[in-house]
Parts: sequence; structure tokens; C-alpha cells
Amino acid sequence: MRIDIATLFPDMCMNYLEESIVGRAKTKGIFEVFCHNIRDYTLDKHRRVDDTPYSEQKGMLMQAEPIFRCFEAVTEGREKPHVIYMSPQGKTLTQKRCRELSQEKSIFILCGHYEGVDNRIIEEIVDEEISIGDYVLTGGELPALVLVDSVVRMLEGTLASADCYEDESHYNGLLEYPQYTRPEEWHGKKVPAVLLSGHHANIAKWRHEQSLITTYTKRPDLLDLSALPQKDLDIINKYCDFDKTDED
Ligand code: SAM
Repeated sequence: MRIDIATLFPDMCMNYLEESIVGRAKTKGIFEVFCHNIRDYTLDKHRRVDDTPYSEQKGMLMQAEPIFRCFEAVTEGREKPHVIYMSPQGKTLTQKRCRELSQEKSIFILCGHYEGVDNRIIEEIVDEEISIGDYVLTGGELPALVLVDSVVRMLEGTLASADCYEDESHYNGLLEYPQYTRPEEWHGKKVPAVLLSGHHANIAKWRHEQSLITTYTKRPDLLDLSALPQKDLDIINKYCDFDKTDED
């Protein structure tokens, strides 16, 4: 997969992408990433890329032309990539969307700054706006890194195996079960005995039950109780403070 990030702060993005699991995936050639400084594409002699919004006295807006020139230069002679504008107005990023995006051959991510970008560039090149949550940040760099990180970890070879993310929160609509590591006892709290038993079927059953309980307790909004099989409802009923009206 090829990822291009158009930003006013390419080093901020690149520094993160060189590190840890994502950095190793890049070194292994699992994906390529290029961070482009939009300022390199302005025709203004002072390298300005922003101006005041029409009819507003406050704030600055990124101009369409430098972004467009950057996009044209980066995509010249190539198939058009899937273009994403990181924006608080976009659809909120989900694990499902990350999984879908990990199938793309090439994505181009536009990071806004200041008050955002001239709307005409969105109309001209953007396929999709993605938000990382209902709050506003100063720029699109952190959202772009969130997106790249969550997509790259689903590319084959980034993690040891697909199990690593398939068992995790949000992959199948549930949150992950609790996890423990050594020592077996810490501050008087013991690791659940089933996890030490080596009995794979019992461990799988315990994990599923714990996933249901964790999801019901921490994020009930994720569960569609009317779609759950009776055996899952029985588990929630048995272990949680289950409100029968939730089921309706
Ligand atoms: N004026 C814009 C609005 O009210 O919708 C907000 C602009 S924000 C201060 C500057 C840039 O940060 C945006 O262009 C976008 O790229 C990025 N940004 C801020 N919050 C974001 C979020 N929750 N998700 C994705 N990108 C975000």
C-alpha cells in the first residue's frame, strides 16, 4: 500500500511513522509513506498557503491552489488514489472503515490547519472526509497518524498474525476480554484459574463471556441486544446487572 500525506508539518508525521510497529512495517516494505509539505507547492514568494476567509474577520484558511498543485504533482502519471480529508465534519473513524481502507492500493490524506481548507478543494479532489471524534484539534496531522496507524496494523505482516487484531476490541463488535501477565498473583489479585488451565475450549468460552460482560458494562451502546443469540443474553443476564427493558 502507498500512503501520501499532504501537510504543513511533514516532519511531525514522519517522526511518528519511523517508530515502533508502524516504523518496522515501513522498513519491511509492507507499506510506503510519503509526507509532502504543501508549502513547497505555493507560488507565493513568501511561501504563504493561507488567507483570511471571505466575510470573516477571524482566523486563516488554507488556500485551494497549493493543495491542488501538491495533489497534482504527487499523483501525476498514477491511478487516482482514494483521497481523504481529515475533518471534524467527517464520518467518525471505525475499525470497520480501517479494515476496508487497508484494502486500498493507495490513499492520499489531506491535513487541514488553521480554520481548515477552502471548501472548493474538498469538492475538487476529496472522496471522503474522516473525523477521529467529535472534538476539534488544531490540525489534521494527529488524525492522519491515527488513521495510518490503525490501517497499517491490519496490513499483512505488520503484526505477527491476523489473530492479533481479530481478537481485539471492535473487530467483531465486542470489546476484548481482560488480559493478564506474570506474576500469577499481584497485590492479592490472582489471574483467573481458567487461564492457567491450558484447556483451550474453556479458555475460549471464558474469553467470549468476558468480552460480552466487558462490552455490556463499559460500552452498552455497542451491543444490539435484540440481535444477540439467547446464550449470549443468558451470560449477560447471569453476570451483569441486566435491565430487561434494554432488550426491547
Ligand atoms: N473550522 C473547522 C470546523 O469547524 O469544522 C475546524 C478546523 S480545525 C481547527 C483544523 C484542521 O484540523 C481541520 O482542517 C482538520 O484537518 C483537522 N481536525 C480537527 N479536528 C479534527 C477531527 N476531530 N478529526 C479529524 N480532523 C480534525
